[in-house]
Amino acid sequence: MFKDKETFKHAFTKQLVDKLGVTLEEATESDVYKILSGMIREQIGRDWAETNTTYKEQKEKQVYYFSMEFLIGRLLGNNLLNLGVLNLVKEGLAELGYPFEEVEEQESDAGLGNGGLGRLAACFLDSLASLQYAGHGTGIRYKYGLFEQKILDGNQVELPDYWLQKGNEWEVRRPDKQVEVRFWGNVVTREVQGRLIFETVQYEAVRAVPYDVPIIGFGHSPINTLRLWSAESMMDPFRQPYGQEGSYYRYLDYSRSVESISEFLYPDDSHYEGKLLRLKQQYFLCSAGVQSVLRTFGKLNLPLTELPKKVAIQINDTHPTLVIPELMRLLIDDNGFGWDEAWDITNQVVGYTNHTILSEALEKWPQQMVKELLPRIYMIIEEIDRRFRIQLSERYPDQPERVSRMAVAENNQIRMAHLAIHGGHSINGVAALHTEILKKREMKDFYELYPERFNNKTNGITHRRWLLYANPGLAALVNDCIGTRWIKHPQELNSLIKCCEDSRFQDEVAKVKSRNKERLAQYILDKQGIVVNPDSLFDIQVKRLHAYKRQLLNVFHILHLYNQLKENPQMDIVPRTFVFGAKAAPSYYLAKRIIKLINTVAARINGDKAVNEVLKVIFLENYSVSLAEKIIPAADVSEQISTASKEASGTGNMKFMMNGALTVGTMDGANVEMHEMLGGDNMFIFGLNAEQVQNFYQCGGYSAWDMYNSDSRIHEVMDQLITPGLICSQANEFQDIYQSILDHNDEYFVLKDFSGYVEAHLKVDLAYRNKPDWQKKAILNIAHSGKFSSDCTIREYASEIWRLNPVRRNGK
Ligand SMILES: *Cc1c(COP(=O)(O)O)cnc(C)c1O
Repeated sequence: MFKDKETFKHAFTKQLVDKLGVTLEEATESDVYKILSGMIREQIGRDWAETNTTYKEQKEKQVYYFSMEFLIGRLLGNNLLNLGVLNLVKEGLAELGYPFEEVEEQESDAGLGNGGLGRLAACFLDSLASLQYAGHGTGIRYKYGLFEQKILDGNQVELPDYWLQKGNEWEVRRPDKQVEVRFWGNVVTREVQGRLIFETVQYEAVRAVPYDVPIIGFGHSPINTLRLWSAESMMDPFRQPYGQEGSYYRYLDYSRSVESISEFLYPDDSHYEGKLLRLKQQYFLCSAGVQSVLRTFGKLNLPLTELPKKVAIQINDTHPTLVIPELMRLLIDDNGFGWDEAWDITNQVVGYTNHTILSEALEKWPQQMVKELLPRIYMIIEEIDRRFRIQLSERYPDQPERVSRMAVAENNQIRMAHLAIHGGHSINGVAALHTEILKKREMKDFYELYPERFNNKTNGITHRRWLLYANPGLAALVNDCIGTRWIKHPQELNSLIKCCEDSRFQDEVAKVKSRNKERLAQYILDKQGIVVNPDSLFDIQVKRLHAYKRQLLNVFHILHLYNQLKENPQMDIVPRTFVFGAKAAPSYYLAKRIIKLINTVAARINGDKAVNEVLKVIFLENYSVSLAEKIIPAADVSEQISTASKEASGTGNMKFMMNGALTVGTMDGANVEMHEMLGGDNMFIFGLNAEQVQNFYQCGGYSAWDMYNSDSRIHEVMDQLITPGLICSQANEFQDIYQSILDHNDEYFVLKDFSGYVEAHLKVDLAYRNKPDWQKKAILNIAHSGKFSSDCTIREYASEIWRLNPVRRNGK
């Protein structure tokens, strides 16, 4: 892209003057950011256009990853890295007097997601492009990303995240590619030449305008596209029912309601959100996305029967399931297909990824709501359901209850997961254990009906962002040790195994970790004015706040440590810094109370001179991708302590492992596969396993009160939640948390796993004292982390679900 540093410096300085009319001396960091991102856009413009031409000319099969969330974070550094000029630019800018770290801070995080599910979509885009697959993202351009979290007086406060305020250097508005999405109205049926024709009248039309973001993969990759749709009102009043009536005020109402469709990301991906607006958003994404896919396909001049050979659509959880009836609608109503043929095409095109077994997260929509908002789509779903019931009744003639259990529409609700499994050709879980649970329990009926559709695709993370970019010090060491092939072939990180006992290499790895910890300590000092000891053990839990992720277990352990230290100030423990980062859904009361508890415990411990030399607790506000990039490289210990069976995969666990942190974890999600590779010596496993958890749920036999009464450590910690003293400033301050455990019989087995967790941490304490051995374990973690690169995951999706080959571009 730039031949060398001097060329870059020259071009950059010239652009500052030409484009912004400022000299190097006058330029602000924001100017520098603008020019730099503009330079990248100019550089890749041709490749982007060429990629699209190539895909069209070679009639490549393309995959479209439909997701309500893309948690992409910042793009500047990652794009420079993937273009191979990051170091050159960093050095060049430094020589011109601009530290790259400060320039980067000018970019707002594109926080268009809640957590793991959205981040997965972003990692997948990186891998798709880097591996030369023709694969694109389809999402919504929310005006406001996930809320910005502030901590006030220990409590979470939510502020709007107006991430577009300063403009978005990476997007290109494409009004020429807009499509129309229709809501409401009535379906009228006519018969024309013996065929039934369905036409929706008196609908409300919305303009879907795409904003395209180039996805730059590593090396000489194609430039794929993340297409984010924005909702705008129709301008042409004569096509507008409201306009015809001449009521300007109604037009204003209409306009406002339209804009709300792409205004906010729902700040929760695990609870059923019963809002009409959410359903509107989902259909908006699906309809705009599928129309656009068909239009692109149309340029190939092939019959639509060829669609499955040229197009795959993957739906990220059930949120975009309406892709299925929408594709049916377009094939039948707009293209004259009969039902069976349309169904066959749809089935072959769509694949579904399941992300959770939490029952409250299984999406269901009230039939009435769907019927009113999307009348034609509702008819199609009804017909899908009718035919499915016939199919089921034939197969299970004596099991009407099974038919009802599996139906798509039942109890006045539409079950999106059933629609997705029945309407697609593939359903995958996101870690081996999760897929097994789907097959054996959650989706057992469907597994028996369609065993060939079920498959596993363990999640992954892009090692380029999460190691090469976020931890350049460690990446450089890896390069010194095993060369750079791992960047293209992450499994080759395995070669590090041979260096794990090399004491010089161990020292170097330890030094990099120390530097990363110093940087995080500085960040903490800048943000909170709290001094933490970079030589202490950094024990980190960062992820959304949710009861099943059990931040509470972590807090209870910290309280227990504190209690022990109060009793015996001479107790010999390795000094520790506990770090938390977590957003709670604004409506999730208990989660917010847990944030308050963490901050209360933190304030108490950090302010207690008797212990604060050995114990510190930090809650970092506004956990996000860019913050994760700062935190994770500094971790010694990674907390992955969900109740077994609840965390489908986890991807945070993989990021930590790749950065040489040791995991304290349960046998849940991808931790299980981690354990398979690492063995018990290189991570700290504790607690109930999934089967034991399921057994308790099914057969009972667990009593939280018994735990409370029989374990004095638990008793003490629990009582501290409600008794004035160490933690509470007034009686019953954390009564709600106390009751959630005792009165609801500890749904997530916090007390049950407490003892095992304390033991696991004693082992951590012991292991950390043996520095060479700890470094060896850390190196083995890094060495085995290549398996969790999303490159591996994407290759499996491509070959087993999408039937996609890498694209060959002329000479590249
Ligand atoms: C990776 C990531 C997550 C997912 O973390 P889990 O520990 O798997 O829940 C959530 N948020 C951000 C910002 C991430 O980068």
